[in-house]
Order: sequence, then structure tokens, then C-alpha cells
Amino acid sequence: MSDAVLRRDLEQAAGGPAETDIPFSRMTTIGCGGPAAYVVAADGSQTLAAILDVASGYHLPWFVLGLGSNLLVADNGWRGVVIRLTGNLRECRRRGDGLECGAGASLPRAARLAWEEGLTGLEPLEGVPGTLGGAVAMNAGAFGMSIGDKVEWVEVALPGKVSRLDADQLGFAYRSCRLPAGAVVSRAALRLSPGDRDAIRRSMKVYLSRRETSQPRGARTFGSIFRNPGGEAGAGELLDRAGCKQLSCGAAAVSGTHANFIVNSGGATAADIITLMDACRHRVHQRFGIVLEPEVRFLGDIGLKEPE
Ligand SMILES: Cc1cc2nc3c(=O)[nH]c(=O)nc-3n(C[C@H](O)[C@H](O)[C@H](O)COP(=O)(O)OP(=O)(O)OC[C@H]3O[C@@H](n4cnc5c(N)ncnc54)[C@H](O)[C@@H]3O)c2cc1C
Repeated sequence: MSDAVLRRDLEQAAGGPAETDIPFSRMTTIGCGGPAAYVVAADGSQTLAAILDVASGYHLPWFVLGLGSNLLVADNGWRGVVIRLTGNLRECRRRGDGLECGAGASLPRAARLAWEEGLTGLEPLEGVPGTLGGAVAMNAGAFGMSIGDKVEWVEVALPGKVSRLDADQLGFAYRSCRLPAGAVVSRAALRLSPGDRDAIRRSMKVYLSRRETSQPRGARTFGSIFRNPGGEAGAGELLDRAGCKQLSCGAAAVSGTHANFIVNSGGATAADIITLMDACRHRVHQRFGIVLEPEVRFLGDIGLKEPE
């Protein structure tokens, strides 16, 4: 297979350019990671299915990228097709007592539309900087609420086809969702409830201010490093009690505001961040006998060591 032919086929399916060698450092909130072999945009569900069909025909792996807000990519990048969602896959509209949104719509945008429409249910997610598709894939949540609680159905794209799944087919659990292998969420319907607009706005402000006082502000991070292990103490508390707030590696450091966040102060590599995550895991394991599992998703040749 020639690179030019593959690129032509991707461009034909996408109806737009297939860019090459775009660094993930420009596409993730943490700001590190090497190049993606191909980056294409899909502006509708059928286009998405057509792109997956081409990638699958060439036995090339694909990865759908939301806002890259929970992602760490290897410094040598990743050789596959990165798909970004644009056009009507970023749109969001009212549907009955809920919303129907493209998977590329930003969560803050969906939360704001819900408020404008006098619909309550999404307030705790105000300030989570991801897309709806990323939120569904991760079952993102905050302050005791998870997006999976609100999902009515999702539309997914697979090579050459689009289908719809009800929420109970998705096995939502803590920060996870069981999508069919290789499926990309293209659209989702959320079930919300009518509420008072002023009360919704006040509640959004309260959640946002709780977030702003407890998390690093305006910094390059990828959100929570580790999942809460279950039990009384969350990952942040365990990391703090194990003294991880003092740890750093290169330009990556554990946040002094919240120990379950890593901040890239400029020029950190994925290797720096992995070294730091290993050191954090090691400390928590030594002190409490608990092995923390990553919440952040990894892409490429990258991973943690088992703590000794
Ligand atoms: C400052 C900050 C605060 C955060 N606070 C929270 C929080 O309170 N709660 C929380 O849960 N998370 C939080 N996060 C993490 C992150 O914002 C969420 O997990 C978010 O939902 C990820 O969305 P994304 O679009 O950025 O996904 P990405 O990071 O782009 O991708 C994450 C994973 O989802 C997959 N994915 C993305 N889109 C799709 C799709 N359409 N179909 C299938 N799979 C898809 C990707 O392939 C990848 O495996 C925070 C992050 C930051 C930087």
C-alpha cells in the first residue's frame, strides 16, 4: 500500500484533507506527545463510518480524539488515524425534556444549553473540559453525578455503518463504558428534567467555584491522574498523605493544589509524566499497600511499571 493512495482514500471518505505528522502536544490539554500519522475530520455520522471503513480496509488502527483532556500520548507519537469530530457532530439541541448532541459538542456548551432551556441535570459537569463523546466513553462525572446517569441512547459509528444503542446496553460503571470494539460515539441523547433557570445557574456557579478552588487553574493538565480506588480515601487524599505534592520530573510536577493532578509548566515530555506517575504509585503502594490505577488514557508505546 502506498502512503499516497491511503491518504487519497482517507480524504475521499472524509471529504477533506488528511493531515500528516501533527504533534499530539498541540491536540491535548497536557501539551505533550509526538506526532499522529494521519489526522482527519468527520462532519457527520456517515462520514465517520466511511473513514472507519477505509482505516479498517487498510488494517490501520483509529483513535477518536475529543478535546484530548484525558489523554497522554507517547513521545514518539502514534501511527494510526486520528479522527476529530466537526460540523453537525459538534451541534447540540433540545429534544423533549433533554438534549441531543453530536459527540464532538463540548460539555460546557451542553451544560450551558441545558441551563438556557431550563433543563436540570448537567450542572456538576460545568467546567469539565471535554466533549460529549469523550465524556460518554469515560463515563465522566463529578460531585457524585456521572454522564451515564443521563444518557438515554447513543449513536455509534463502526466501519461502514451507524447504529443506535440504549444506555442499558453500554454497561456504564465508574469512569468506564462498554462500547462495542472499535465503535465511535457519534451522537447521544441525554434525559434531563425541567428546572428553574436561576436555580440551575446558581448551582452551576457553585460547582464551578468548588472546582476552581480545589484544582489547579489555567494550567496544562489532563484532569485526574488516578481513579479513586474505592474505600474511604480518594486518590487525591492518598497521594497527598504519601507526600506526592513535592514530586516533580523535568517540567512536570504534581500540583500543589490537588495531588491527583499533574501540571506541565512547559516542555514536559510524556516520559517525564510517566516517571512521575510511577513515583506517585510507588509512594502510595509503600505507604498504604494500595495500587492506584490510571484514569488518564494512554496512547502509543507508553505505560506504567508495576509498583514494587
Ligand atoms: C482541568 C480538568 C478537569 C477535569 N475534570 C474532570 C471531572 O471532574 N470529571 C471527569 O470525569 N473528568 C474530568 N477531566 C477529564 C476529561 O475532561 C474528561 O474525562 C472528558 O470527558 C474527556 O473528554 P475528551 O473529549 O477530552 O476526551 P479525550 O481526552 O479526547 O479522549 C479520552 C478517551 O475517550 C475516547 N473518546 C473521545 N471521544 C470519543 C467518541 N466520540 N467515541 C468513543 N470514544 C471517544 C478517546 O478515544 C479516549 O480513549 C478533567 C480534565 C481536565 C483537564
